[in-house]
Amino acid sequence: MKLTARIEQLPLHDKFTISRGSTEVSETVIVELTKDGVVGRGEALPISYYGLGPTETQARLEALGPWLSRQDPWAFRPLLEEVSARSDGDSSVVCALDLALHDWVGKKLGTPLYRWLGLRPHPLPETSFTIGIDSVENMVEKLRRASSLPIIKVKLGTDRDLEIITALRRETSATLRVDANCGWTPRETIEKSHALAALGVEFIEQPLAAEALDDMEEVFAHSALPLFADENSVGPADVPQLCGRFHGINIKLVKCGGIRPALRMIDLARMFDLKIMLGCMVESSLAITAAAHLAPLVDYLDLDGPLLVAKDPFRGVEYEGAKLRLPSGPGLGVEPR
Ligand code: MG
Repeated sequence: MKLTARIEQLPLHDKFTISRGSTEVSETVIVELTKDGVVGRGEALPISYYGLGPTETQARLEALGPWLSRQDPWAFRPLLEEVSARSDGDSSVVCALDLALHDWVGKKLGTPLYRWLGLRPHPLPETSFTIGIDSVENMVEKLRRASSLPIIKVKLGTDRDLEIITALRRETSATLRVDANCGWTPRETIEKSHALAALGVEFIEQPLAAEALDDMEEVFAHSALPLFADENSVGPADVPQLCGRFHGINIKLVKCGGIRPALRMIDLARMFDLKIMLGCMVESSLAITAAAHLAPLVDYLDLDGPLLVAKDPFRGVEYEGAKLRLPSGPGLGVEPR
């Protein structure tokens, strides 16, 4: 099995701002595993708040190349456990190789991933479309441009959060969800939850800093809206402690390390009666399509990466407004453009 890894620049339609910072170009790492003339592809978006950049991620992947060249891709489960041990548990690296191995095996089987996971390709939940933080006027303008879409996720964590939602609500009857990206205090969350509920918001994602997990008990007891964990919902081990603190979890492949841990998180969330949203970073259609294969298993989708990216190097899942159509090709069903 031969490994190559490269960095791809993903220019965005609009500057994208959340409570932590802004992006105009998302940098992602694409990995290819080739064996018997079949190429399995994966993607590793380095998660910047964990401190690693694309160059380090690419180097970590390349360092695994000589060892991987001697491994059997069919035995991808034990293989990925070893990748995790060898890469210091770096979830971006594990995710890239998890996707590439699922793609390779699916191509050898001649079967789309959702099918060998035993899933139906439809019906799927509709995806939300995200509006990043900006001036109230610019956010309203972005909403107008997305006026055909039924679910809008709004990034908050500013000193004008209620003003933003009031202005957006005046423009649209679409479902509104909000994501504070750790930007609120417990008291602020409880207060804002009542105002946001009155404005018809559906739920709140990650109001408090991840370290403030214990404070979520009080917020959970008094919030007027359901609460979803994102920064607190990294991998399978996080799920049990979210019960009684959140109503649901946001699963992202690059946070948890790919398809296998995402499936474990889905099973755990069902066991603890938590709702499940499948989310993404600002990634290409490669990683998003991999996530989309799990969409039949979840309640909510936030897979708008390809809608935010102006130049996507891959073609995979297709969008008809907020509806996703899974590709029918083998493996992830993703091809270079
Ligand atoms: Mg989030």
